Amino acid sequence: MNEHEIKEVVIVGGGTAGWMAAAAFSRFLNNGRTRTTLIESEEIGTVGVGEATIPPLAAFNTLVGIDEMEFVRATQGTFKVGIEFVNWGGLGERYFHPFGSHGQDLSGIHFHQLYLRERKRRVMQDISAWSISAVAASRGKFARAGSDARWPLTDLHYAYHFDAGLYAKFLRGFAERNGVRRLEGKIVDVSLDSESGNVHSVTLADGRTVEGDFFIDCSGFRGLLIEQALHTGYEDWTHWLPCDRAVALPSTYAGQPDPFTRSTAHASGWQWRIPLQHRMGNGHVYCSAHISDDEAEKVLRANLEGEVLADARRIPFTTGRRKLSWNRNVVTLGLSSGFVEPLESTSIHMIQAGIARLIALFPDKRFNPIERDQYNSQMQTLYEWVRDFVILHYKATLRDDSDFWNQCRTMTVPDSLQARIDLFRTKGRVFAETLELFATTSWVAVMFGQHIVPDDYEPVVDALDEDRIAAALEQMRLACLEVVEQLPDHGEFIARTCAATSAAKPTEFAF
Ligand SMILES: Cc1cc2nc3c(=O)[nH]c(=O)nc-3n(C[C@H](O)[C@H](O)[C@H](O)COP(=O)(O)OP(=O)(O)OC[C@H]3O[C@@H](n4cnc5c(N)ncnc54)[C@H](O)[C@@H]3O)c2cc1C
Repeated sequence: MNEHEIKEVVIVGGGTAGWMAAAAFSRFLNNGRTRTTLIESEEIGTVGVGEATIPPLAAFNTLVGIDEMEFVRATQGTFKVGIEFVNWGGLGERYFHPFGSHGQDLSGIHFHQLYLRERKRRVMQDISAWSISAVAASRGKFARAGSDARWPLTDLHYAYHFDAGLYAKFLRGFAERNGVRRLEGKIVDVSLDSESGNVHSVTLADGRTVEGDFFIDCSGFRGLLIEQALHTGYEDWTHWLPCDRAVALPSTYAGQPDPFTRSTAHASGWQWRIPLQHRMGNGHVYCSAHISDDEAEKVLRANLEGEVLADARRIPFTTGRRKLSWNRNVVTLGLSSGFVEPLESTSIHMIQAGIARLIALFPDKRFNPIERDQYNSQMQTLYEWVRDFVILHYKATLRDDSDFWNQCRTMTVPDSLQARIDLFRTKGRVFAETLELFATTSWVAVMFGQHIVPDDYEPVVDALDEDRIAAALEQMRLACLEVVEQLPDHGEFIARTCAATSAAKPTEFAF
């Protein structure tokens, strides 16, 4: 046993970030000596949005020990195989960013290079015809691939949509059952150690003081510890990601839930559509320099499919990231650590990524700066990768129908993104780093979908016989269609495995 071992971990905030951290710590710091306490304030509440995710969340559930079907059922969840983008490249256009890949590589050559080569010979369907996720989405189908499944079913990667409030409640139950202590109350004061400058304790409105060795700031945009107490600083990315507000409204819907998120671009922002089992989540993300709050809400209401279920929730934000994710004895997770806006549903993933790295670099009371610096450097890189990918959606457009789109289309982007665009434009090359969240398929889907189409393909493709390429492509396209035909409707899959209203125990229903 290490005499410097951290004994008291204090999580400030009980939104998605706080309860994800608590659930993970209840599993990974479960050594009988380290206590985790979470403080949350019902009076302040949570941000109340954040309902679409990306595939790595399944790995979080598995590592923490959460049963997938129980989780989907408890959160009124649905499955998500990608995002449909409407009106992004140009008005009236749509494309699909799928989870999983387009087609299969041949002799080590990436599928999209084969596609580019074949495009020189004939008119081709959209590249999404080679993605089982995109084909399944277009037909409202879904199933989990069983352990003996073969391609293309193995490429039907998925994530979840869920009710954010129910998710925090579900995680809370899990964490409390596993020993996390929860305190309800509003923190009104943070005291620092006069020698080290570390956070020593927080004081609640009722006078209780909670001391800790290590604090996790999950207090949302306000950054109670990381900013208000430690003045860490914030890097503002508004010049690249100009949307700075959102208005959210849940609504009813009829019929089957789509197994995908839809993002529809409007004149001064975009609208999300997230189908859950019991309602539709909707929101309009917009740029306040180009549209007023009232106008933005009007646009959202005019574009809803069902009846409105609650009052509108207006949320201001500043895109960017906290200059240090770990400062002194405080690590920040969730909205207090930064926000790259919700277009690619990456925020909850950034929480997960932060938790994973924190567990790998968990400190002792000496707070070795090497661990902290490594954490900060990794989180900075992750944030910047996501930032560049999201900026691409705004930059790569033909839209010239509003001041907002003119601003986005003509803006200067980070050098790192410009270099990727230039490289892709010549011969369709993508070099995603191993740990990068968005791999080749994602970059290809958005570049193609938003009119960045390469002039040529890689010379190495010419080493393959062109008839062989043509035959292989046709085989792959037909395989996607054939397999999707056999899948159940997404609604049927949910009804049989994880319907929130069903008292039956989830049953296996996989292909
Ligand atoms: C418009 C919008 C849409 C989004 N959509 C997505 C999406 O689709 N996918 C995605 O991955 N992410 C999305 N996000 C991000 C996602 O909502 C957040 O990453 C996630 O909800 C985590 O929030 P949080 O826990 O950091 O903060 P919050 O939910 O704000 O929680 C903060 C917690 O801190 C507590 N607290 C604050 N101050 C005090 C105090 N003084 N005393 C005690 N407690 C305090 C609060 O009570 C609360 O419990 C979206 C965000 C926005 C703004």
